Amino acid sequence: MTTTNAVSVTGLTKRYGDRTVVDHLDLELPAGVIAGFVGPNGAGKTTTMAMLLGLVRRSGGTGTVLGRPIDDPAAYLPRVGALIESPAFYPSLSGAENLRVFATVAGHDDVAGRIDTLLDIVGLTGRGDDRYRSYSLGMKQRLGIAAALLGEPDLLILDEPANGLDPQGVREMRALVGSLSARGRTVLVSSHDLSELEQVCDWLVLIDTGRSLYQGPTGALLGGVSDGLAVAPQHDGDRVRLHDVLVADGHDVTGRDGDNLVIDVSGSRVDDVAARVNRAAFDAGIVLVELSPLRTSLEDRYLALVNGGSR
Ligand code: ATP
Repeated sequence: MTTTNAVSVTGLTKRYGDRTVVDHLDLELPAGVIAGFVGPNGAGKTTTMAMLLGLVRRSGGTGTVLGRPIDDPAAYLPRVGALIESPAFYPSLSGAENLRVFATVAGHDDVAGRIDTLLDIVGLTGRGDDRYRSYSLGMKQRLGIAAALLGEPDLLILDEPANGLDPQGVREMRALVGSLSARGRTVLVSSHDLSELEQVCDWLVLIDTGRSLYQGPTGALLGGVSDGLAVAPQHDGDRVRLHDVLVADGHDVTGRDGDNLVIDVSGSRVDDVAARVNRAAFDAGIVLVELSPLRTSLEDRYLALVNGGSR
């Protein structure tokens, strides 16, 4: 079966009494993406993941996961791996032994030959025979991901795998998550920290109070969005004349950024403004060495969305 979306659900809703914690969320995850699932504390990320995994009963919503109805988790869960809370590993068994126990319990056959490969994938090469209790938090989290990979899942759901890790652990986890989309696998990984995800995720789902704020390619979140345009003439002596030419052409020259003049482009497409600036400078015989957007950071964009200040 060809499935273009690994997850395609509409109206996903969870109510606890009077409180709606996931509110008619439409979620589309193209197959093969590494999707970052971002939102403030309590936004509904874990609840959404738990509903996809059939761990929490939905109050509403229809659709499919891996092409099978969300009403029938048993049909798709064998192809899904998840790390949604710290797995209950046995402290006195080794990492490798724990994986064998997990495989047996989950009914995965013939994993013996794969345990070493999985330990390699999650960066535990040479540590598989050490007792779980001797592992650092980062190693424990990575063993959890190895367990989630036991069934060679097509969809991997990871709830805050970097939570509580030190900067080194966060970096290792980021590298690991970035490597997990092998063979078209789809990954949905949650975090509060957009900067942690933007480096490895090619898709972002931003939610707040159970509602979708943005879903789409990571780069497109910033598409056409810019605070300003930086412009500089080749010859310093042309700067004042360039300023006057741009003002005469109707641009809002708001200030200086080093050697650059800064033009406010809010309300316009940055590419359109850049083309007009280029033409005006050319017509005035001024050669430009700088004509580039001042990028809004992804984090600023996210905070603007979360705080309702969409631009
Ligand atoms: P965090 O980033 O803090 O983990 P989250 O985005 O994963 O947050 P959820 O854990 O899904 O958010 O919680 C969403 C909201 O649902 C929260 O306000 C939480 O208190 C509430 N909630 C979760 N589980 C229950 C429950 N069993 N009963 C009542 N409310 C719940």
